[in-house]
Amino acid sequence: MAGNFIRVRCEDCENEQVLFGKAANTVDCAVCGSTLATPTGGEADVHVEVVETVEAR
Ligand SMILES: [Zn+2]
Repeated sequence: MAGNFIRVRCEDCENEQVLFGKAANTVDCAVCGSTLATPTGGEADVHVEVVETVEAR
């Protein structure tokens, strides 16, 4: 598996943002700067609601 992208919704401002499921860096909300996900070395640890998973092809 090459990894998936996931669409998440920021809990603070409801901005929806797509991030890589195996993000190597901390992902912050583009609008309010809240932390959405942190890297773990494998699947990113996502702190907010996942709206959908986008399968990589
Ligand atoms: Zn936000």
